[in-house]
Amino acid sequence: MSQLRVRSAVSPLRRQPAAEVPLPRVDALIADLRPQDPVHCLRPATLAATARDFVAAFPGDTLYAVKCNPDPAVLRALWRGGIRHFDCASPNEIALVRTMFPAATIHYMHPIKARAAIREAWARHEVRDFVLDSTDELAKILAETAATGIAGALGLVVRLALPKGEAVLDLSGKFGAEPAAAAALLRAARPHAARLGIAFHVGSQCLEPLSWRRAMDIAAEVIDAAGVPIEIVDVGGGFPVAYPDVKVPALGAFMAEIEDGFERMNLVQGDAGAPRLWAEPGRALVAAGGSVVVQVQARRDAMLYVNDGVYGSLADAGALGFRYPARLIRPDGAAPSTTLRGFGFFGPTCDSADVMRGPFFLPEDVAEGDWIEIFQLGAYGACLRTGFNGFDRARIVEVEDDALTSARARAA
Ligand SMILES: *Cc1c(COP(=O)(O)O)cnc(C)c1O
Repeated sequence: MSQLRVRSAVSPLRRQPAAEVPLPRVDALIADLRPQDPVHCLRPATLAATARDFVAAFPGDTLYAVKCNPDPAVLRALWRGGIRHFDCASPNEIALVRTMFPAATIHYMHPIKARAAIREAWARHEVRDFVLDSTDELAKILAETAATGIAGALGLVVRLALPKGEAVLDLSGKFGAEPAAAAALLRAARPHAARLGIAFHVGSQCLEPLSWRRAMDIAAEVIDAAGVPIEIVDVGGGFPVAYPDVKVPALGAFMAEIEDGFERMNLVQGDAGAPRLWAEPGRALVAAGGSVVVQVQARRDAMLYVNDGVYGSLADAGALGFRYPARLIRPDGAAPSTTLRGFGFFGPTCDSADVMRGPFFLPEDVAEGDWIEIFQLGAYGACLRTGFNGFDRARIVEVEDDALTSARARAA
């Protein structure tokens, strides 16, 4: 059981488990541990395979958005799957990635950075690419990188604001320059940039491949208005994953729109080289690679009181109403009913907002003491845990199980 850890919100670095130690299976693990606290189950094989597929399909550099799941076991699996670029947003993320992978290329993709964080990234962790969405931030980046006295080829990427699109989670409310300001920023940044780029984020869990092409059309207008050559078109994250009753177009449909959009941009090659595509997927790389096993502490009709909730790893199942595939685990006692019905969950804290309406489909006889495995939680799950109300204990364990499709979850 050396892989087991009690974790709070911040994951410490871990040693790599010896390769020959076989990983447990979820059912056996739960039967053995009978855990009273949530258990996060990471699937390294799934994570590596998903990364491999994305890297092979995307016609440019794939930057993993670390905020989505910074667990070292996840980062290692993605590295095995061919991820060499990391989209980091904080000094801690940068230090973690640099410590684990001295050869990684790290991109600092938060448009608002502390001055000391810029210096540390540039001088200590060899971060060379910085995103910005204002002239104030440009001035900060130039001043702080120069202040370190360390020379290097600075990459500057202008984050463009997009009109609200089809994504489940809009990400342009907070960051991004409007088109006219973005064009002016590109012009202002050009003389300082060894690499100049434009970036956008269509929003998280975006189900519409055309959103990327539309965003690239806007980006093309901005670049035309700027009248300077650029080297990077960063199409952001937002690539969706399947949840129950959410049909997701194949990855190829997104890639086709991106390739098409890139061609339509018709970019000229400047002195600094041919334009290149970047993407910053988070959810699409890691959602399928993680689940959480919770225990039922009480049942009232169709509501189950479970030991994880919106202040733990199920934040998106709260106000946002995400529905995840789920299955019952009952190591002993009567075989679960084969009839499924929809249940809602109450989380463990005393806050009445700690509720997840679902519905989550489970055998109709689910009862106190049963465990429930909730899938597609490799993304924005364990990393959102808080210590609110004292419920901050959870384990993270690597398992051998495959990713679960919702078909299998329903049949369970
Ligand atoms: C969160 C974030 C991502 C990842 O988004 P997903 O929807 O998880 O793919 C990528 N880029 C930036 C700048 C982000 O803030």
